[in-house]
Amino acid sequence: MGAEDERTTEETAGEREELRTLVAQLRTNIAARGRSGLLGVAVTMTASAPKKPAAPAAVPPPGRPPSPPPVTMKPTEPQESQEDEERAPGAPRGAAGLQLVREELGDCKRCKLCTTRTNIVFGVGNPDSHLVFVGEAPGADEDAQGEPFVGKAGQLLTKMIEAMGYARGDVYICNVLKCRPPGNRNPEPDEVASCEPFLKKQLGAIRPRMIVALGKFAVQCLLRDDSPISRLRGNLRTYEGIPLMPTFHPAYLLRDPSKKKLAWDDLKAVNAALAQVGISPPRPPAA
Ligand code: URA
Repeated sequence: MGAEDERTTEETAGEREELRTLVAQLRTNIAARGRSGLLGVAVTMTASAPKKPAAPAAVPPPGRPPSPPPVTMKPTEPQESQEDEERAPGAPRGAAGLQLVREELGDCKRCKLCTTRTNIVFGVGNPDSHLVFVGEAPGADEDAQGEPFVGKAGQLLTKMIEAMGYARGDVYICNVLKCRPPGNRNPEPDEVASCEPFLKKQLGAIRPRMIVALGKFAVQCLLRDDSPISRLRGNLRTYEGIPLMPTFHPAYLLRDPSKKKLAWDDLKAVNAALAQVGISPPRPPAA
């Protein structure tokens, strides 16, 4: 008589019941994760290209870092995902979340820029937007008005946003630094170290589906990658799990309008990536 045969009918029935409960729990868990996109089929940016046989791994030319892996777009709203809940359990989102970040920032004196600024330039726009634009730091106009991208470069940015099919108020706009560096000099490492945690929290509250990083400084700072912007732009990356498109800064485009076409290509790629996860702008984009 085997060990199995010696056990009572009640014992085996109980175990079968336990097994059924476990399977049911597993199914519920898989279904929930599927809804949240964690088990969803990853949609890659390079869709619809015909499949080629696998090529041997490319060896980067000497002195050049290997290319990062392609970014995948998750097909469902990340704002509802279990992954996010695990990252910041119970943290308020949207306007309430941003309000908390603003309160924490307070009348910031964490770095020397507080001695020369007129206004803290926190950010502006839709706190629930799926699209966030991140620039470098406020300039003179922004410092005077307390709003990002309101000077000449800001006017061009507004046109770029509108060409994508959005109004300025549909998206969220902010900077790596919240205070103007005197004379518009480059941000210094201690200033970035003090300020970036607040950008991270802003993005954590909004949880956009896409970040557009504007210009060398914002791109290199967010990606921790000092490759030239001419190489970084147009290639989708991620910041804290959020897809990030590096592109040229509008101030640079004002200085070199021949680069506007490339920047427009990048913004069209942003619209295309969002379309892959079912997000389209409220108005038709420019051709
Ligand atoms: N340049 C930036 O990077 N940000 C602004 O807000 C304005 C100009």
